[in-house]
Amino acid sequence: MTDSLDPTDWDAFRAEAHRLLDSSLDRLEDARNRPWRPVPQEVRAGYRLGDDEPGQTTAEIVDALQDRMMPYATGNTHPRFFGWVHGTGMAEGILSEMVAATMNANCGGRDHGMVYVEREVIDWTRRQMGFPVDTSGVLVTGTSQATVIALQAARVRALTHVRTTGQAIRLTAYTGAGVHNAARKALELLGIGNDNLRLVPTTDAGLDIDALSARIAADRAAGATPFALFGTAGSVDFGRYDDLNALADIAGDQGLWLHIDAAFGAWTRLAAAPYRQLTDGMGRADSMACDFHKWMAVPYDCGIVLIRNEAEHRAAFAARPAYLTGMDSGLAGGDPWFCDYGVDLSRGNRALKVWTAIKAHGTAKLGRTVTANCERAAQMGALVTAAPQMQLAAPVVSNLCVFTADTRLSPDAQSTLNMRISQDLQNAGVAVFSTTLAEIGGASVTCLRAAITNHRTTPEDVEIAIAAVAGAAGHA
Ligand SMILES: *Cc1c(COP(=O)(O)O)cnc(C)c1O
Repeated sequence: MTDSLDPTDWDAFRAEAHRLLDSSLDRLEDARNRPWRPVPQEVRAGYRLGDDEPGQTTAEIVDALQDRMMPYATGNTHPRFFGWVHGTGMAEGILSEMVAATMNANCGGRDHGMVYVEREVIDWTRRQMGFPVDTSGVLVTGTSQATVIALQAARVRALTHVRTTGQAIRLTAYTGAGVHNAARKALELLGIGNDNLRLVPTTDAGLDIDALSARIAADRAAGATPFALFGTAGSVDFGRYDDLNALADIAGDQGLWLHIDAAFGAWTRLAAAPYRQLTDGMGRADSMACDFHKWMAVPYDCGIVLIRNEAEHRAAFAARPAYLTGMDSGLAGGDPWFCDYGVDLSRGNRALKVWTAIKAHGTAKLGRTVTANCERAAQMGALVTAAPQMQLAAPVVSNLCVFTADTRLSPDAQSTLNMRISQDLQNAGVAVFSTTLAEIGGASVTCLRAAITNHRTTPEDVEIAIAAVAGAAGHA
């Protein structure tokens, strides 16, 4: 008797697997009745891993997965989940993830089907984003990792020998308000330091070009090397979009690498007017990052980085020690390998779930879900505006709606109220709003924030959610 990890009784395993598939499907079909629930103490206790785990039967494991794991997710499959920016998944994810687990492909490179599928996904995305035909790309965990990869490519372009010698020169990057923390983190990880991300003032017309030029000149005079400009297409706070054509012009004039963070906002490119036009100019960037796991409803995790110049992408990461030598044919063929485009050598099969999502629903329908979400945010904005006590913190431009529940209170009292409402509605399983700081009447207030990336959300859901806010605020 050998200790293979295969089932000893495949027929029994098959029956248990079918049972779990059915309960997974049941759960997703009933997503509307399954909001976030806190994990009960006794369930959490059952997660414990002992030093000498004895092993369990398939039936016991299926029970644990079904009863003690599946019910306690983030709740983002629920139609009134609007918190942070969460994708809501899709039923086809069950199919593609099942097959991905069966195949267990290592997508770091070599010559096999999933490499070709990933290339198709990258090329489809490239076309949607308006990037040129020889653009390079790689699927990654998400926009955070994509940002690191893009900035490393920018850094290697600015400092040709940095991979060998490390960085002695001070690099500076520039961005406007609304930049996501992923940019700071990436600069920290690359040893550039987040002090060197210069926050440039914005005007109503976008980034203040004069202020930016002055800042770049001052940094140059001080001996620094300006290397990158960060644009945001869909800011995490208000869903705002920078004027990407204007940024491309400045980046060109100043010789900066233009990177666009379009984590969720990229997908308005599939939507109807006026949302579709928000990202005009995207294809002029040196790189862009976005997520499939947010607005494209692909199961976590999956993002992508696109880099206009393949040679610059490769220069930042490629390294093939002897044990990774490629061949003309056989399994060691298939050049280029994705490990030459990013941090990971071993890589999971992210491509299959994206490919399945696009094939199953088609580009037009995916675009309609994006348009509908923007319309739901506009509807929420209209309900807020119509409620005498409530007030928007910013105009609704895409899929985000940020507001205070009672503008008659002091700023502190508004913050306290909004935080309480977000918790009450989450705990009651009614709706999930997150919170963020915004200006209301010139003061800083913790506001309620809805980012609608949820294909299950109906107009009634928005009505229910805003009525619940009004109820929790004590409005008659
Ligand atoms: C979510 C988000 C990120 C980070 O992306 P992850 O996929 O969570 O790593 C970056 N920028 C914006 C605008 C985001 O919404």
